[in-house]
Amino acid sequence: MNSRRIMTFFSIIFVALFAAFIVWPRAAMTQQQQTSQKSQQTPTIDEYQPKSTLVTKEHKIERAKFPFIDIHSHHWNPTPEEVDRLVKEMDTINLRVMVNLSGGTGEELKKTVAVMKGRYPDRFVVFANMNYDDLNTPGFGKRVAARLEEDVKNGAQGLKIFKNFGMDLKYGGGERVHVDDPEFDAVFEKCAELKIPVLIHVAEPSAFFDPWDYRNERWQELKEFPGRARPPAKYPPFETLMTERNHLFAKHPKTNFIAAHLGFHGNDLARLGKLFDENPNVYVDIAAVLAELGRQPYSAHDFLVKYQDRVVMGKDIYEVNEYKWYFRALETRDEYFEYYRKRHAFWRIYGFQVPDDVLKKIYYKNALKLVPGIDARSFAD
Ligand SMILES: [Zn+2]
Repeated sequence: MNSRRIMTFFSIIFVALFAAFIVWPRAAMTQQQQTSQKSQQTPTIDEYQPKSTLVTKEHKIERAKFPFIDIHSHHWNPTPEEVDRLVKEMDTINLRVMVNLSGGTGEELKKTVAVMKGRYPDRFVVFANMNYDDLNTPGFGKRVAARLEEDVKNGAQGLKIFKNFGMDLKYGGGERVHVDDPEFDAVFEKCAELKIPVLIHVAEPSAFFDPWDYRNERWQELKEFPGRARPPAKYPPFETLMTERNHLFAKHPKTNFIAAHLGFHGNDLARLGKLFDENPNVYVDIAAVLAELGRQPYSAHDFLVKYQDRVVMGKDIYEVNEYKWYFRALETRDEYFEYYRKRHAFWRIYGFQVPDDVLKKIYYKNALKLVPGIDARSFAD
């Protein structure tokens, strides 16, 4: 080994020792510090899951106090096995009659009626839907009315209109079908003649029409499902849809309309009250908007008492274990409890307990009045 090699050798040893005793421990310390610092950093909205320390009364209500009708459910082409299972589950929560809004039309409707009502006549109701395949052929509205009449003969007890109506549905030339499009007048007049209700979903929560920024209260849902955003470049504004919808309600006063999801006025009950006052033919369901009522328990209670003849029970996405939130909100005064779908509500909700006579109206009496042909005998009084 010459002296240069010896120098290199010792240099390497020195660097290694320096790294081992001086630099590495420092780096390690920094890592430790970083970890402790990180725990003090601002968490993301997903990371922040505070456990409530509130100790207060809790009522776990697994079964509705009275038998009820779910006016807003979806079961596309169910099999006999699915229907059998459904009835068993419905019995566990006191769900007496389920309204399947997804009956379709024509042969599809007949099949759905047969598999549900055919086998459990007093447990199911099926609503028909419109088929838009021949939208661009003149005389469309009249043909839909005729098809609906046929569907009702085949067992349909109402018409459900999905949210594409007014937003995504367009004529061949690209023009949007407006909610109050005169082409459909024949359909709504037919519903009045047949004495069947129209359950209609118009627009979406107003926040979906607003910019997706940190001030948007549905930020999380729009992050999870960007397709739910309704940007102005592609969609009419929320207010345009409301104006068209209200015009539709006003021009068919003999037709009963059930505006789905509190008509998307759950965040402005005074506005919904005004809609009720102006249109005696308008009703709402509470499907999938329970968190709106649950965040304003005093207003919700007073509103439901005042408009007790106009509100019907509904759930939307069927999941037997989620109904208990509705029971708890409607039947108790439990406070500050977690909602079942965080993307709808990052806030906790409160029970707004309505009196029994109001509860009965929401659970079944109003639906019995609106939907023809439900056997009322299975409901007490
Ligand atoms: Zn629905």
